[in-house]
Amino acid sequence: MKIKGIFLDREKNTDRSLTIALPTPERVAVPLPAGCKASVRTGQWVLRGNSICDGEKAVHASVSGKVEEIRTIAGPDGSFEAVVIKADEEQKDAAVKIPRAEDKESFIAAVKASGSPAGEKLEKAKSADVMIVNGIESEQYLTAENRCMLDDGELIAAGIALTEKLMGIGKTYIAVASDCKEAFAAMEKVSAKVPDTTTVKLRCDHPGGSDLMLVNNVTGRGIKPTETAAEKNVLVLLPSEVAFIASYFETGMPFVERRVTVDGDLVKTPCIMRAPIGTPLSALLAFADANIKPAEKLIIGGMMTGRSVTDTELPLGAEDSAVLIFMKPIEAGKGSLKTSEKATNCIKCGRCAQACPAKLMPMKIEKALKKRNKAALERLRPDLCIGCGSCTYICPAKRELNEVMRQAAEIFGGKGGEQS
Ligand code: SF4
Ligand code: SF4
Repeated sequence: MKIKGIFLDREKNTDRSLTIALPTPERVAVPLPAGCKASVRTGQWVLRGNSICDGEKAVHASVSGKVEEIRTIAGPDGSFEAVVIKADEEQKDAAVKIPRAEDKESFIAAVKASGSPAGEKLEKAKSADVMIVNGIESEQYLTAENRCMLDDGELIAAGIALTEKLMGIGKTYIAVASDCKEAFAAMEKVSAKVPDTTTVKLRCDHPGGSDLMLVNNVTGRGIKPTETAAEKNVLVLLPSEVAFIASYFETGMPFVERRVTVDGDLVKTPCIMRAPIGTPLSALLAFADANIKPAEKLIIGGMMTGRSVTDTELPLGAEDSAVLIFMKPIEAGKGSLKTSEKATNCIKCGRCAQACPAKLMPMKIEKALKKRNKAALERLRPDLCIGCGSCTYICPAKRELNEVMRQAAEIFGGKGGEQS
């Protein structure tokens, strides 16, 4: 049986915008993954595409210039190190080698060496026999993947063919939401070109792009909220990741930039940019003519599952698809954001439970949490929450149920409150 989500307000101001290349920012702070150390020193010159990190994960300079410092930055998920590079005038690319891969192991190793988040996904889904290209952007404002599907059809086709061949994938589905008609038409052209590939139209409900809904609704494989797509032998990649794989095997240029949507009521010119990894949010916002002074909310990612931050100098990360900035108080129920409207008593309408793709009962979990009733929590399983924010969004009493779920899962001992 298909899992249904909820329909969100369709606020996508940039779904017809073209991608604009952001002029090279003055400096970038390229984030290093936890456990990795910078392989460059202060004062060293780097070219775009040079490796700048020692450790298991690959990170590359996203601009050419001089390393100013290795800085520790306090981010929303804790501190991390970043290599700060002051960009030079010339912007030169490193001499890169075109990667080669003959089999699954060498393919995964090559994509991991590119620094793309796709590398980790391939590693985790080594036994996958099915691939889903996840073109579902169910959250408000997000449009970067839609744009990729409209612009990068050739690369997506080449990336699917390469991934199918080297990962031993027998069937690929390109999942597109029913409200993205042009993207669907573009992807149908792709699936006509690549063997064993079908474009499927899904409801534009949220969280349609979660592993839970995608794997269940596209492949029919039963998946529990605690399981990942990889555990069901399904490889899920974004259109931009598949397109990147093709371009990397064509040009050898590692993962140094990404598409990012900049939007919100303080943004005069909402747009989609192609920006170097590590670009300060302030540079993205300035390019989109955003007035950041009266900002109430700055969000990296989507309205429902993104992270609320305050520092406009935080750098753009490898997986940050949007930067949203608002003056209006965000209505209650928008993802993990703090409500600015006062919550009222639960009216027991049951809408939160109806909205939950994991079939949880947030109102009962809230009650059990208040009473610190561990036995009830064990029965109600808040640890199965995938953090989609739908319960909070739908609640007429403006209750912050996603925060309830997070706390309840902590008491229960599970992780909870995390988007799969
Ligand atoms: S309880 Fe968790 S999974 Fe269910 S709707 Fe709320 S946030 Fe989503
Ligand atoms: S949606 Fe809100 S008001 Fe309705 S049952 Fe759930 S918590 Fe109570």
